[in-house]
Amino acid sequence: MFKGLPQTVYELSGKNPYLCIQCGVCSGSCPMIKDMDIPPHQVIRMIQLDMQEVLNCKTIWICASCNTCSVRCPRDVDPARMINVLRILVQRRNIYPVDLRRVKGLLDLPQIALISASRKLTG
Ligand code: SF4
Ligand code: SF4
Repeated sequence: MFKGLPQTVYELSGKNPYLCIQCGVCSGSCPMIKDMDIPPHQVIRMIQLDMQEVLNCKTIWICASCNTCSVRCPRDVDPARMINVLRILVQRRNIYPVDLRRVKGLLDLPQIALISASRKLTG
């Protein structure tokens, strides 16, 4: 149907990135926007343009998966799901933002924080 990153994201998310009209509602609704290097609507645009460098952005790890953007998106693009797909693609390259095996004092950390981090930041 598509090619490159748009096709991969479509296959893994079940959502069509080309439905995005760049209205910016997702970015305007995002509670984590101040900590992101690329706002969610631009992440979707980079997917549309098959820009692989989107896989290097901080945003995909800053996203809290709160789903606010997806609930409010007028085009049912589901940015939260697409960002999660981008995380999966990075993890498939075996590059992990956090390698829990190298965290010192691992057993002293709150267990819920470890579970949350391992689900989000490791493969
Ligand atoms: S809210 Fe939906 S349509 Fe609007 S910019 Fe975000 S992803 Fe695109
Ligand atoms: S799911 Fe992620 S990108 Fe979407 S509003 Fe929540 S923190 Fe922002």
